[in-house]
Formats: sequence, C-alpha cells, structure tokens
Amino acid sequence: AKDLGKNNVQIFTSSMNIQTYKIFTLERDLRKAIQRNELELYYQPKVNVYSGEIVGAEALVRWNHPEWGLVSPNEFIPLSEETGLSAALSSWVKLTACQQNKEWQQAGLPAIPISINVTAKRFLFKDMVDSIQLVLRETGLDPQYLEVEITESSLLENEDAVMTTLDALNKLGVKISLDDFGTGYSSLSYLKRFRQKINTLKIDKSFIHDMHPGNDDNAIIHMIIQLAQHMNMSVIAEGVETEEQLYLLKQLQCDVVQGYLFSKPVQAAEFAEILKQGH
Ligand code: C2E
Ligand code: CA
Ligand code: CA
Ligand code: CA
Repeated sequence: AKDLGKNNVQIFTSSMNIQTYKIFTLERDLRKAIQRNELELYYQPKVNVYSGEIVGAEALVRWNHPEWGLVSPNEFIPLSEETGLSAALSSWVKLTACQQNKEWQQAGLPAIPISINVTAKRFLFKDMVDSIQLVLRETGLDPQYLEVEITESSLLENEDAVMTTLDALNKLGVKISLDDFGTGYSSLSYLKRFRQKINTLKIDKSFIHDMHPGNDDNAIIHMIIQLAQHMNMSVIAEGVETEEQLYLLKQLQCDVVQGYLFSKPVQAAEFAEILKQGH
C-alpha cells in the first residue's frame, strides 16, 4: 500500500496511453464492425407506472469489440460522426430496430413502439426522412411503432429545415420524443415553436437522480410534467433507479418511466421474454 503513490503515477500514464490507443483502434475498426456483425441493439422497457405494463422500449446500441469487449455508444457514436460513418451506423440501427420489432409482432408479442436515438447532425441530413420511410417499407413495420428520440440541440438549427423534417415525420406517422429534456438551453422558446410536432418530453435522468422528498429539483420535474400536460404531450422519466423516485414521480402524475428499477437495457432475446411475461 505504501507504493501506491508511485504505482498510481505509472497506472495513470499507462492508462492514458491505453485510452489513446483504444480510441485509435475503435476509429480504425468501426467501419468493419458493421460488416462483421459486431454491433448489437439492447432494449430497455418503458413502463406505465400505474398498470405496470410495458408501453414501449428504447433501442440502445452496443459494440462487441473483439479486443475491448462491450463498448459504450458514448465512446463510438462521436467517433462515427468524425469518421463519416454515422450514416452507415444510423442505417444499421434503424433497420435492425424495425426488423426486430416486426419479428416480435409476427411472433405474437404485444405491439409496442420502439424508439431509436438520432443525433442532431443526422436528424437534419436531407436523407433522414427518406431513409426512415425506406426502412419502414422494407420491413413492413407500421410507422406508429417507430419512435425517434432527438435532443434539444436538433431543434436549434435552421428553423425551416427542422420544421420540414418534423412535419414529414408527423405525416409518416412516426413518433418524436425530445430526449434529455431540460439540459439544453432556451428550451421554452423552441418548445413553443415546435410543440405541435413533438409527441413526448423525456425528462433527463440528471433531474431524476437528484429527486428526494422536499428537494427543490422536484419542482423542476413537476413543472416539466405540467408543461407536457398543457401542451398535450406525453412525458417520460428516464434513469429511474429507486422506489422513492418512482413514488415521487407517481405523485407528480408522471405516467411512464424507464430505468434500472424495472430493467437495464437487455439483449433482444431477454427483452422478448420480458415482453412475453407482460412486466
Ligand atoms: P440516452 O439516449 O440519454 O440513453 C439513456 C442512457 O441511460 C443509456 O445509456 C441507458 O443505458 C442509460 N440508463 C438507462 N436506465 C438508467 C438508469 O436507471 N440509471 C442510469 N444511470 N442510466 C440509465 P447508454 O446505452 O450507454 O447510451 C448512452 C447514450 O448513447 C444515449 O443516451 C444516446 O445518446 C447514445 N446512443 C445509444 N444508442 C444509440 C444509437 O443507436 N444511436 C445514437 N445516435 N445514439 C445512441
Ligand atoms: Ca434516448
Ligand atoms: Ca436521455
Ligand atoms: Ca443523453
């Protein structure tokens, strides 16, 4: 234990090198990852707090890297955008999620919407709506069972382009939810602008994390829930980990939650089991 200081320095410097090396290899391997079938979608249920029913799921991508094991999307999604691979990755996610959902429905499992995450950059690409339409046609999935999670930053770009894209998705019948709500800035002005086109507000998990009886943060959550209700939007809380958080959210009339309390994101086969059992 006395040598810890010295070892720490070594570990620190060598781990810096490892991190640099890791990013290098991830960048190098990402193109092949799709062809080699190393990407995998995990699914996390969205649960109605009153009935306990599963009312949806979020698809979250993972990379089973041969050297590094399971790699988090936080690590490789940004890399995909820097290396021009975000279109390929995004296509793979869309197709896989829609195919999977269609399969589950054909197997007689309850039909639920599955959401995919779309980065601000991808959201405003011209081909976004076309590629979604194509995937829906290809898989035969009813558009009401696809949901797109975008972040507030997607709405900050060119107003006309945002409006056109939202309109086109609305027209298709694909649902739109606003992810990480409350963490961006100038939220209210663009919410006012786009509110009719957005189905759901997703309260960011940082607010849920700080929920305790009597905490001031609860007031912010309360406000977001009321805002959603007034604007005729659904609201969902993400990152719900404890019974206490669930209890407080119920008191604030938040209908739908997602988080480790119910299930962490799981592999497709496991999710199918959860869906089969109901809750
Ligand atoms: P996000 O969209 O905000 O997703 C929620 C993250 O919170 C997920 O992390 C999820 O696993 C995690 N989470 C779920 N329940 C809990 C909980 O109770 N407590 C805590 N602390 N965390 C919880 P994950 O899967 O590592 O994804 C991280 C981010 O990567 C996502 O954040 C999303 O922005 C991005 N991402 C994931 N999959 C995709 C994808 O297919 N495409 C794109 N463009 N981005 C993706
Ligand atoms: Ca999300
Ligand atoms: Ca989120
Ligand atoms: Ca996030």
